[in-house]
Amino acid sequence: MREYGLYIGGEWVGGASGETFQSFNPYRQQPWATLREATEAEVDAAVQAAQKGNETWRAMNGGARAEILNRIAAVLSANGDDLAELESTDNGKVIRETRSQMQFVARLFRFYAGYADKLYGSTIPLDQPAIFDYTTREPYGVVGLITAWNSPISLLGNKLPAALAAGNCAVVKPSEHASVTTLEFCKLLEKAGVPPGVVNVVTGGPKVGDAMVRHPGIAKVSFTGSPGVGRIIAATAGQHLKPVTLELGGKSPNIIFDDADLDQATVGALAGIFAATGQTCIAGSRLLVQKRVHDEIVERLAERAKAIRMGDPLDPATEMGTAANEPQFNRIMAAIDSAKGDGATLVTGGARATGAGLDDGLFIQPTIFSGVTNDMKVAQNEIFGPVLSVISFEEEDEAIAIANDIPYGLASGVWTTNLSRAMRTIPKLRSGVVWVNTYRMVAAQAPFGGVKESGFGRERGEQGLLEFTNVKNVMIDFSGEKRDPFAVKN
Ligand code: NAD
Repeated sequence: MREYGLYIGGEWVGGASGETFQSFNPYRQQPWATLREATEAEVDAAVQAAQKGNETWRAMNGGARAEILNRIAAVLSANGDDLAELESTDNGKVIRETRSQMQFVARLFRFYAGYADKLYGSTIPLDQPAIFDYTTREPYGVVGLITAWNSPISLLGNKLPAALAAGNCAVVKPSEHASVTTLEFCKLLEKAGVPPGVVNVVTGGPKVGDAMVRHPGIAKVSFTGSPGVGRIIAATAGQHLKPVTLELGGKSPNIIFDDADLDQATVGALAGIFAATGQTCIAGSRLLVQKRVHDEIVERLAERAKAIRMGDPLDPATEMGTAANEPQFNRIMAAIDSAKGDGATLVTGGARATGAGLDDGLFIQPTIFSGVTNDMKVAQNEIFGPVLSVISFEEEDEAIAIANDIPYGLASGVWTTNLSRAMRTIPKLRSGVVWVNTYRMVAAQAPFGGVKESGFGRERGEQGLLEFTNVKNVMIDFSGEKRDPFAVKN
């Protein structure tokens, strides 16, 4: 068993004393780490440490901050495989994905390092020629970063590099279901020479997150998680008039038109739902297929789904890992049972996966339902597991209507070889991301985020940086005039 305390002001605090909880390895279904449930006083200590850290961090020029961010990238890159192993142990995600995620987070640190000394404002010509107007971009100070269990370091990577580059310090809370790598990451931050207090980590459940959102010393919250918790956080933040960025769930439509390259589209549909065991916000969990190619696509997908190699998440040959934790396993199984009751046709899967190397773990068979209508629960509710709903359509407009008929709006996929069709479809899709002839593609430069109940605000790209800044406008009057004190000057 590993034991972890909290990471506050560059120190490990509390050890595994006080109130603790355990993290489970979902492959072996065994506890493997003991962590500390932070108290409100410890959250407060973390905020104070971040405020102190911010004095140092803000006083550094952008070039010096960039240097440290680049060092974090180098240390993470060099230690990425070890961290990936821990993450796969903690949440059952396959090592081939966690390894590449660590390298991508290193890329994000490098990307935002490039911005740290290029946080430009603008000079603005006004109607009044004798006023010099310019803007600067200022950090919030201390930001609170709260993440989900499905990809702790990757989700942190969407927030922390941008927050630091902009001059903020952070109090981070990973999910109580998978906190180990966020704490281990702090050891890498130390190796990279990050000053004490710049990044602080508190662990625990909802109470700890809530204490962060309420804390007056946290000026902004960036949250990744479920829409239900997103609502609570937005409401609490609203009471404190605190800005929030919300990266929430999805039920993304992946649309295959009948002129698509079916080999590519099949791979895209598989990647959309079975990569990461479907436990990804961008899962293409509603597959909309045009009638003429519907049966062929379903057949191809079923054949490939049955052959998906499940097993030890740490084995690079494994394609699909476990459900990340027991509550999530139970939620997925309940959703499968409900779909069967809804009248959807079970094409393949639909049960717990058992057999050699699988019996101890929380494995679920890759599951495909066809004959789904968009009003069924299996089509409307985010399952966050390897469960695909296939919906047949005839016309382009019908596909767009079905795609948009959902409370979520995170991502959409479009498969077509007809450029005009793609260009017609893109603006009609109500989602923050559209992929055409690809799916689940991420890039440091490209902004990511949702509309509707998938949240608001953006991560990655320049937009992700600006989320962690406020604009200050400055007017300097060099006219030397004496003005009328009772009239606004315009
Ligand atoms: P969750 O909402 O249950 O928990 C997320 C985090 O919020 C955890 O750290 C949790 O402890 C904390 N939390 C819970 N209640 C809180 C409260 N009242 N105040 C403050 N913090 C609180 O989500 P989850 O089950 O960990 O993750 C799955 C969800 O995350 C899915 O809906 C998925 O789509 C979403 N997700 C979204 C993205 C994205 O970028 N849009 C990425 C990954 C996951």
